[in-house]
Amino acid sequence: KLTLGIESTCDETGAALVAGKTRLIANVVATSMDEYARYGGIIPEIASRAHLESFLPVVTSALDQAGAKLEDVDQIGVAAGPGLIGSLAVGIAGAKALATATGKPLYGVNHVIGHLAVDQLVNGTIELPAVGLVVSGGHTNLLLITDFGAPGGIRELGGTLDDASGEAFDKVGRVLGLPYPGGPHVDRLSREGTLHAIDFPRGLAGAKYAKTHPYDFSFSGLKTAVARWVDGLERTPEVRNRPDFTKDFSATKEGKPWLPVAEICKGFSESVNDSLVTKTMQALADTGAKTLVVGGGYSANSRLREWLGKECEANGVTLRIPPLKFCTDNGAQIAAITAAVAEAREPSAPDFSPVSALDLMTVTV
Ligand code: ATP
Ligand code: MG
Ligand code: FE
Repeated sequence: KLTLGIESTCDETGAALVAGKTRLIANVVATSMDEYARYGGIIPEIASRAHLESFLPVVTSALDQAGAKLEDVDQIGVAAGPGLIGSLAVGIAGAKALATATGKPLYGVNHVIGHLAVDQLVNGTIELPAVGLVVSGGHTNLLLITDFGAPGGIRELGGTLDDASGEAFDKVGRVLGLPYPGGPHVDRLSREGTLHAIDFPRGLAGAKYAKTHPYDFSFSGLKTAVARWVDGLERTPEVRNRPDFTKDFSATKEGKPWLPVAEICKGFSESVNDSLVTKTMQALADTGAKTLVVGGGYSANSRLREWLGKECEANGVTLRIPPLKFCTDNGAQIAAITAAVAEAREPSAPDFSPVSALDLMTVTV
C-alpha cells in the first residue's frame, strides 16, 4: 500500500510517500522558518499563509519524486495536532480536498507520535515494547509504546511540567543574544565549554521527587537560574573590567566565543541532558523495555545523542534515533504513523477538526 503523509503543524509544510510500513520513497519539506529570525519567534499568520502557498507544490513534488500519481496513493494521513491551529487547518483542508477528489481514506494522526515512528523508515521496524522519548520545541515526554497502530498502544509515563527541552534551549539562546531558534547555537557553543565550570540545578531530581515525579521534567527554574547568572555576570566588577568583556553576547557568533558564554551553554546543556538521560534510563529499567526510541527536533542535540548512546550500550538497550534530517518536522513522520495505524483502525470521520493541544495517547482523531 502507498501512503501519502502531510505535515503542517508549525512552520514546515511536508509531504512524503511510504510504501508498505517502512519504505520511504519520497520526502519533500518547505519551511517558513527564515521569516521568523527578525521576530524571535514564529508568527502564526505568516506560517498559515506559507502553508497555503506551499501545500500544492510540496505534494506535487513528492509525487514527482516518487514517480507516482495521486490516483496511485492508497491512503492519506495528515497531522491533526498538536500544533498551531491555523497551520493545522491549512494542511487538513488540503488533505480533505485530496481525499474527497480521489475517494481515498483519510487519517488525522498525531504529529508527535510520528516523530517516534519515523525512525522505522530509516532503520527498520522498531522492536516493541519500547520507551519513547519525545523531545521537541513543544514536548518533552516519556512514553511506553506497545503498539504504534492499535488503540491503547501508547501510554504516557510522564512529561515536562513547564517548558519543553527545545523551548528551554531557545529561551536561553535569547538570554544570550543568539539568533532564533537558539537551540542549535546553544548546543554548538556548549561543546566549547568546560564541564563543571558552571553548574546549574536539575529540576525534579533526587530522592524527593523519585516517587512523586519519576518520569517528569521541569526546565523553567533552570532557565531562570541561567538568566540570573547572566544578570549577575553583568554586575560583577571583575567581569565588567575584563578587556574582552562584552554585553553583546551575539558577538559569540562571529566565531570566537567569550568563554563564559560557552561555559553557560555547557552547564545549562549538561543540566537539561542529565535530567533527560537519568529519567529515561529509569523508565527503561522500570518497564523492562529493551528499546529506546527518541524523536523530535531536540533529538538533534549532540550531548543527548552521545550520552544516551553510552548509557544504552552499558545497559543492553537498543537505541533508535533517526538521522538529523528526520528529527525536525517532515511529511515522512506523518506517513510512517499513518501506515502503522491504517492497519488497525478506521479512517477519521470526514468532518474532523484540528486539535491544537492533542494529547499523546490519541494517535488518530
Ligand atoms: P512539536 O513537535 O512538539 O510540535 P516542534 O515541531 O515545534 O514541536 P521540532 O521542530 O520538532 O519542534 O523541534 C524544534 C526544536 O528543536 C527547537 O526548539 C530547536 O531549538 C530545537 N533544536 C534543534 N536542534 C537542536 C540542538 N542541536 N540542540 C538543542 N535544541 C535543538
Ligand atoms: Mg519546526
Ligand atoms: Fe515536531
